Amino acid sequence: MPRAAAVIDLAAAHHNLGVMAARAGDAELMAVVKAEGYGHGMIPLARVAREAGVTWLGVALPSEALELRAAGDTGRILAWLWAAGDPDIAACVAADVDLSVSSMAALEEIAAAAKAQSKRARVHLKVDTGLSRNGVPESDWASVLAALAANEDLEVVAIWSHLSSADVIGTTSVADQRQVFERAIALAESAGLSGLLRHLGNTATVLAYPDCQYDIVRVGIGMYGVSPNPQMGTAADLGLRPVMTLRVNLAGIKRIEAGVSVSYGETWTASEPTLIGLIPIGYADGVPRSASNRAHVSVNGRTYPIVGTVAMDQFMVDLGSNPDGLQVGDTVTLFGRDSDPVEVWAEHADTIGYEVITRIAPRVPRIYES
Ligand SMILES: *Cc1c(COP(=O)(O)O)cnc(C)c1O
Repeated sequence: MPRAAAVIDLAAAHHNLGVMAARAGDAELMAVVKAEGYGHGMIPLARVAREAGVTWLGVALPSEALELRAAGDTGRILAWLWAAGDPDIAACVAADVDLSVSSMAALEEIAAAAKAQSKRARVHLKVDTGLSRNGVPESDWASVLAALAANEDLEVVAIWSHLSSADVIGTTSVADQRQVFERAIALAESAGLSGLLRHLGNTATVLAYPDCQYDIVRVGIGMYGVSPNPQMGTAADLGLRPVMTLRVNLAGIKRIEAGVSVSYGETWTASEPTLIGLIPIGYADGVPRSASNRAHVSVNGRTYPIVGTVAMDQFMVDLGSNPDGLQVGDTVTLFGRDSDPVEVWAEHADTIGYEVITRIAPRVPRIYES
């Protein structure tokens, strides 16, 4: 094994998509593979999704959609986040990528690209229902709908939105946003746009709000075997299997005496003689520095706490005085299979599993297991 590797269990991703599909009822899945498949590798994960029968892929950026096309994906793909003048819009129209429309300017830009190619571009109207991120605000719905209905260069195939708090237990915002979404759908129909596909939900929505699944659900985190919020159920409770396991070779073992400090800033000092293990991965690899002195690693079912601050390329763990035959070169697991789920690591780092997996850096090789 190299210094460190993110082992990617493709069979687990396939399994997780089956779990999500079973919970999604009649809704089709859109597998969300943006941000390099949440750090797992976009192309391999997209391939697994297609093998699992997933009809839609979702990405944030037009460039991500084009990468999927370049890799040979010929199915439906939606790209939803782009700014005016994005150089990839025309190529997306040419490559039959569905594009999201969040403003009149976006509508005009796609329509111009379509006209120049003498073809119709497929678009999904994004309405803001309360997240206040991208999406057409309610005050502009009527004008944008009228423009969409009148434009010959565009084929409007869907209306969609995104929930702010489907993973927050006890929120009333989901019901509120659903109502706003229903209002947008009704207005679209009265503008002559009927029979549109409707999509609103992400992973947490599939798990908690069957009435918000509509025609398509956009599933990201669940596919990767991570719970959107462990209070809604851990990944194991939900029947999901971790896809990424972060492994590292134990690079050194060293005895230190009582009173000796470890790592930058002397944030931890040995209270008795102990053995310190050197773990050659750091914040440049995506290990959160905020996990310093809080998270732990696992070897053969035993856990060892991080001591001292996480550095750019390495951190240390306290192996205790009797480290059970541990040797330099042994495989240490940070999170994933046979270890804590990434959600536990995330909690120790004051963040969410999403952030930890998506930030594992390119210099950590991905090793694919099928
Ligand atoms: C990233 C993203 C998703 C996927 O959300 P998960 O919580 O990972 O399932 C769905 N929809 C939009 C608009 C997104 O940006």
